[in-house]
Amino acid sequence: MRFSDETLLDIMQRFRRELVSGLGRDTNPTASLKMLPTFVRSIPDGSEKGDFIALDLGGSNFRILRVRVSHEKKQTVQMESQIYDTPEDIMHGSGTKLFDHVAECLGDFMQKHNIKDKKLPVGFTFSFPCQQTKLDEGYLITWTKRFKASGVEGMDVVKLLNKAIKKRGDYDADIMAVVNDTVGTMMTCGFDDQRCEVGIIIGTGTNACYMEELRHIDLVEGDEGRMCVNTEWGAFGDDGRLEDIRTEFDREIDRGSLNPGKQLFEKMVSGMYMGELVRLILVKMAKEGLLFEGRITPELLTKGKFETKHVSAIENKEGLSKAKEILTRLGVEPSTDDCIAVQHVCTIVSFRSANLIAATLGGILLRLKENKGVARLRTTVGIDGSLYKMHPQYARRLHKTVRRLVPDSDVRFLLSESGSGKGAAMVTAVAYRLADQSRQ
Ligand code: BGC
Ligand code: MG
Repeated sequence: MRFSDETLLDIMQRFRRELVSGLGRDTNPTASLKMLPTFVRSIPDGSEKGDFIALDLGGSNFRILRVRVSHEKKQTVQMESQIYDTPEDIMHGSGTKLFDHVAECLGDFMQKHNIKDKKLPVGFTFSFPCQQTKLDEGYLITWTKRFKASGVEGMDVVKLLNKAIKKRGDYDADIMAVVNDTVGTMMTCGFDDQRCEVGIIIGTGTNACYMEELRHIDLVEGDEGRMCVNTEWGAFGDDGRLEDIRTEFDREIDRGSLNPGKQLFEKMVSGMYMGELVRLILVKMAKEGLLFEGRITPELLTKGKFETKHVSAIENKEGLSKAKEILTRLGVEPSTDDCIAVQHVCTIVSFRSANLIAATLGGILLRLKENKGVARLRTTVGIDGSLYKMHPQYARRLHKTVRRLVPDSDVRFLLSESGSGKGAAMVTAVAYRLADQSRQ
């Protein structure tokens, strides 16, 4: 699990080749990276205004936001938001039930904000791979992460949500845009830094988008300007190109997942799987008598009992006492040496994640540099996601490795303070402004 820079540079080059295959008309259908056009052509220009609703579904929380963008002397954004529960039976039930739930929460939100009689424009952050031919349409290609509701794959999620809202009949909504969370993050950060042209999520799942030259996007007409492309990099390796670095633990995670054979890169790096990877390693070490004097408890053998937040806690200050606490709860009666070893395992697994993301991000940065034809790239990367935000060392390790792998660059990493919802509202605001112009 520990890679030399030489290996990381090799992975970076592989990823860069995969980007190119995903963009080509003939190579796209069989490419592991879907490179989905998003129909977002620029970051906010500062002239947007209005009152918007944003839905954010598919990350660690389902959130609804009201975003008000006003222009006094300068553009200001006011936000209020609420988190709603999405129980597992809804994530794994029928698609109809899932969208009824979303529509019900939206109704509740509008009621609480006294805006049920208004038809506000809605931006929908939907954090799954979607095929789009315009901004307000998104055909779900496949569920990922914890979601698997039936009858949604292959369908337009905007239509499904509209249908659920119509069926209720107690309020109206105008869904103007569906955006991936990476795109929402890029737009949120782009609002504060005009140089932002990459968006990354390192959370439950992982993914990135960036601004590509339209002339290189075979799937979209036109040669002028740029468009944001959703790489869906979680699927890197689904064609077998990462087999040399996948371990027995990665294979076991994949076998036990909701989507075997898919999102293989995501399963090596993201928050949904990291704790489980550590647990599988601990089980193997205990079986070989290398940990806990060989003690193996039912808790240690239970899937999900060791969580990614535990990895973060164990790598934090006072991590050893945390390790003791967490392992004691698993019933393995750890010695001090056990705690040190477990801390070491956590570091190896989380460091591998940061290194792999550094390699794929490095691939995107090289691509941008090439597209611009500059000797030195100056750019900003917008980032969000629970793992990146909560893990005490992750961000620093990632930044350091990226700078080492792509030395001719000045990269600013910008944490999206308000998540991807504000960005979805900004995309909606731009769409609204343009629609307004064409109506006049
Ligand atoms: C999804 C992406 C999403 C990422 C982060 C992945 O599983 O396929 O669309 O951006 O998770 O939420
Ligand atoms: Mg999110």
